[in-house]
Amino acid sequence: MSANRINWHERAAALRIDGRPLIGGRRVDTQSGEQFDCISPIDARVLGSVSRGQATDIDTAVQSARAAFNDGRWAARAPAARKRVLQRFAELILAAKDELALLETLDMGKPIQYALSVDVPATARCIAWYAEAVDKIYDEIAPTGANALALIQREAMGVIGVIVPWNYPMIMAAWKLGPALAAGNSVVLKPSEKSPLTALRLAELALEAGLPEGVFNVVPGFGHEAGEALALHMDVDAIGFTGSTRVGRKMLEYAGRSNLKRVYNELGGKSAFLVFPDYEDIALAAKTVAGAMFFNQGESCNAPSRVFVHESIADEFAAVVAAEAPKYAPGDPLDPRTVMGALVDEGQLRTVMGYIEAGRAEGATAMVGGSQARSESGGYFVEPTVFDGVNNQMKIAREEIFGPVMSLLRFKDEADALAQANDSSYGLQASVWSSNIDRAHRVARQLRAGTVHVNQYDEDDITVPFGGYKQSGNGRDKSLHAFDKYTELKTTWLKIKA
Ligand code: NAD
Repeated sequence: MSANRINWHERAAALRIDGRPLIGGRRVDTQSGEQFDCISPIDARVLGSVSRGQATDIDTAVQSARAAFNDGRWAARAPAARKRVLQRFAELILAAKDELALLETLDMGKPIQYALSVDVPATARCIAWYAEAVDKIYDEIAPTGANALALIQREAMGVIGVIVPWNYPMIMAAWKLGPALAAGNSVVLKPSEKSPLTALRLAELALEAGLPEGVFNVVPGFGHEAGEALALHMDVDAIGFTGSTRVGRKMLEYAGRSNLKRVYNELGGKSAFLVFPDYEDIALAAKTVAGAMFFNQGESCNAPSRVFVHESIADEFAAVVAAEAPKYAPGDPLDPRTVMGALVDEGQLRTVMGYIEAGRAEGATAMVGGSQARSESGGYFVEPTVFDGVNNQMKIAREEIFGPVMSLLRFKDEADALAQANDSSYGLQASVWSSNIDRAHRVARQLRAGTVHVNQYDEDDITVPFGGYKQSGNGRDKSLHAFDKYTELKTTWLKIKA
């Protein structure tokens, strides 16, 4: 049935939530039995109770994952056999698209149309892509002498701990699950306490697809409890983490305090968007930045929140952005026409409103927005907000806001644009807009960011790596490079007698 004809409110009212962990192929109770309320940011309604996993539950899940890995029920299968199970998993995700999209929207507030058209298909595509890739990767033989043979092989690492945020709960999990499971590892996933529901359903669908029990376990709970226990666990071989730079720092500490497990951090961003006066269509650049900034309520790690415009075109550019921004006004996330939903919770609402106050206090001007919206709904909505007159030292230009707040800054020349854009502790993504091919390449090369777009912003594909420079993290999600994170490189020397 088309999204427009579904009564999403009726379906939401009929939902029954099972918030218990899935360990060893079964829904189980936690040892403490403690639970927390899963609250929808759309209207502050309690969706259901979710288990508050603790160290003992994490330990049970890790033991289950380890047993599954050691007996080879998954890791020892031929890659083509793993491929078939994961392809089926991807098909089941697509078949459950309405249910998964509804859970995602209710749990974290994004518009249902994007949960359906972006989150579910991207999750399925990611799982299917790694499934399809895994039986096409060859190992190496080193060019050593005639008396020996050196095999260089990739082996599954063992037990992977996955800890993810709430802004794209399924996609962030899939970016780790795809390569980790395809390579033969077992996984323990700790979803965000703000968005645990789809992870639990994904684990059920994986079982239904034929993934053996114990290979993919999910333990919901809080970061400082279940998350910390997973990252400190002595029998976890690697942590695939996506989240804030603050918590990414802790991941490195946990590894140092425990077993030196590999830590792959995908962290925050404060991405720069540079518009030069030689670009042929200033209005297109302005419309693109508005679309990219306000997508997902501005809760995207790669949101172009620092927009640098040459001073000669800054007023023209600002006028177009100011006209565009109100088109992203928040609405009911369960209405298929809505383009901007609710912020994830009351805490995030307060954080974003605090940054808006800080912007004003430091002398920037909110040209558009700047207020809370739809308060009568009981949910957590903020107007799309554009600050003009920002300088790169202001708090709103330096810190990640993670909400629908854009800062417009001006630059004098190319050197000034680059100096300001690179003056950030983050380096996730950047964009340069210029019709001069030399300038476009020159600037792209000098931008200190993991991904640079030229004359566009959101081109994206599972085939290309995603990740950051500087305090935006290490390691890369997506593409064949992600296999490196969840495999060990093994060298085997064989003697060849003359
Ligand atoms: P967060 O760091 O607060 O939480 C992320 C996860 O870590 C959650 O599951 C949380 O429960 C857990 N956690 C929190 N404290 C912990 C602790 N002490 N020990 C162990 N685990 C802990 O981040 P968030 O608010 O959920 O997500 C927003 C952040 O994620 C933003 O900074 C955003 O830029 C970043 N992000 C990055 C990418 C990327 O690919 N680089 C993608 C999406 C989001």
